[in-house]
Amino acid sequence: MMTTLIDDQVQQVPHYWRRDLLDQAFWNQPAETMSRENLDAFAFRKLVSLLRYVRATSRFYRELWERERFDPESVKDLADFKRRAPVTDKADFLDFQLEEPPYGRTISLPEEFLAHHSATSGTSGMPFNIPFSAYDTERYGESWIYGWWALGIRPTDVFYFAFNWGRYAGFWSAYWGARRLGARVVSGGGNTTSEHLIAITRDRPTVLIATPSFALRLAAQAKTEGIDLSSSSIRYTYHAGEPGPCSLASVRDRLDEAYGAISGELLGVAELDAIAPGCPGRLGVHMNELNTVSWSRDPLNGSEVGDGEVGENVITTFVNNAQPLVNYNTHDLVRAYRNSIPCGCGRTWRYLEGVVLGRSDQMITVRGTNVYPSAIENILYRIEGASDAFQLVLTRDTEKDSDEITVRIEPEPEHDAAISEADLADKIRQRLVEAVGLRMAVEVVPIGSLPRSELKAKRIQDDRPTGLQRELDRG
Ligand SMILES: [Zn+2]
Repeated sequence: MMTTLIDDQVQQVPHYWRRDLLDQAFWNQPAETMSRENLDAFAFRKLVSLLRYVRATSRFYRELWERERFDPESVKDLADFKRRAPVTDKADFLDFQLEEPPYGRTISLPEEFLAHHSATSGTSGMPFNIPFSAYDTERYGESWIYGWWALGIRPTDVFYFAFNWGRYAGFWSAYWGARRLGARVVSGGGNTTSEHLIAITRDRPTVLIATPSFALRLAAQAKTEGIDLSSSSIRYTYHAGEPGPCSLASVRDRLDEAYGAISGELLGVAELDAIAPGCPGRLGVHMNELNTVSWSRDPLNGSEVGDGEVGENVITTFVNNAQPLVNYNTHDLVRAYRNSIPCGCGRTWRYLEGVVLGRSDQMITVRGTNVYPSAIENILYRIEGASDAFQLVLTRDTEKDSDEITVRIEPEPEHDAAISEADLADKIRQRLVEAVGLRMAVEVVPIGSLPRSELKAKRIQDDRPTGLQRELDRG
């Protein structure tokens, strides 16, 4: 039997194949369960070295710090750093990359030291170029393992990557992680949706790596082809790139049911790291505190907000030697806990409840009410008869000085023909009024008419004159 063979091999191989280590709850048990005091002391020591390195190697930060009169040698502790170190964001980097492509003055290593080039999946405007050293790729890849391991994935698992090998950093780093874990990788590069299904049936992978929307699309295709994925070899599905199982309970339930498996989620920011592995409780993620130091910033006055309050996630990464990012504002709104962690999984790393709640630069104001598109997504996922193929179209009513949202949505392929499209639109309109308090235009469109992607589904189309398009392109 296969099981016996593997067990025999496990006996003979030392290190992480040791049975007691395989039974550990966490990939790096001591680091993931360290006390807050020790985590902070550790982070500060690393921060001091990082600031020296960055000042010595990055023209971009040296000039910024001189201009802002920030002396990295004068930082007394973490609180002092958060208060005084200049906050940067993607826009700063894009300007300099445009000036001297591909990386300009934001790079810290000679180009011959680079091991990998990546870029954000920008669909409009300029892609953000991301260089990696060999060391960066090792650490970035390992970031994925913390989440996989806590969910139950082990070196004996077989990964199937349902995506094409483009410039997008997210799944390249997952590949580096799978290698570091010691698992077997099966590439789905170049496959059509049907070919993915054939490969899953034939190669019998146990872990599926895909964006949540593509995993659901694959499941829908399987249904139409009469393939039952819930009895396939897949035991875990793991996702990034869009709100997934730790962000939205509705997405989690759909994925778990479609694959008869456990779904998990990682929060990554392409230019930073696979920053936050999923909590095994699947109601949030934990910031990787070996690789980052992070805090929540009040978007209005820039001060640090307390545990449980919503703020922008500002991150310094220790693992991007090629293009360092210090006090980098992701503009992701998070509800974070660093002092007492409410999830109860045992990990002490800073916890983001509900993952990303919205973007500080993406809030829409419709007739005086503030709305985050992610909140609308969550509601749409839960409506029976509606599929996960939808789009929010943002327009501007200049006369009323108001943003407007139109929801375009495809019905579920097998939805009961007795429910007309008009009734479905009514139902969605009604649900949105109840949940958000706003009446929105809803258009039920033919199946297959909305754009599809194997990466992030482009769910927001911003047709407003002063578009916020750039912010939507975050890799
Ligand atoms: Zn947890």
